[in-house]
Amino acid sequence: MTVHFPRSCLHCEDAACVTVCPTGASYKRAEDGIVLVDEDKCIGCKLCSWACPYGAREYSEVRGVMQKCTLCVDRIYNESLDPADRQPACVLACPTRARHFGDLGDVESPVSRLVAARDGQALLPEFGYRPVNRYLPPRPRRTEPAPGPAEDFDPSSLPPLLRWADRLLSR
Ligand code: SF4
Ligand code: SF4
Repeated sequence: MTVHFPRSCLHCEDAACVTVCPTGASYKRAEDGIVLVDEDKCIGCKLCSWACPYGAREYSEVRGVMQKCTLCVDRIYNESLDPADRQPACVLACPTRARHFGDLGDVESPVSRLVAARDGQALLPEFGYRPVNRYLPPRPRRTEPAPGPAEDFDPSSLPPLLRWADRLLSR
C-alpha cells in the first residue's frame, strides 16, 4: 500500500515539540494557535524533531536551528497583500485546490463548514496531541475506482500511519 499525502506541521493543541523544548524556542501563540520556533532561542538540540510524531520538523545544518512550517505567518497577516493572497503559499500554489486555509476556531468559517461537510479527519488523533489541521477524505471518483484490497487484507497488520490512511480512504 502506497499513500501520498502532505505532512506539514499540524499546529497541535498539545504540541509535543513545545513540551520538550528546553529553551522555550518552540511555542504556540495564544492569539491564533500557530506553533513557531524562535530561532534566537533555539540551540539546535533536535529534541522537538524526535518528539513530533508527524515528522514536521526540519533541522537546518547550515544555520544550526530547527525550522518548520510557519503557516506562512508573514503572508496571512500581511496587509500589503491583496486579501485573496493572504493565505499560505502551499494553498495558493496547489494546482488542484486540494488545500484550504481558514479559521477552524470559527464554526461558521468556510473552512470549518468544508471540514464538517466532508467529514475532515485529524491525523492519528490517538497519539493525543490534538492536531488542528484536518484531512478531507477523497471526493467521489468520476471514473471506475481501482480494484479494492484482497479479501484477506487485514488493516490491523499495517503500521499506524497506513492504518489511519486506510480509515480515511474508506470514508
Ligand atoms: S505537528 Fe509536530 S511540529 Fe507541528 S505542532 Fe504538532 S508536534 Fe509540533
Ligand atoms: S532544536 Fe530548538 S526548537 Fe527544537 S527542542 Fe531544541 S531548542 Fe527547542
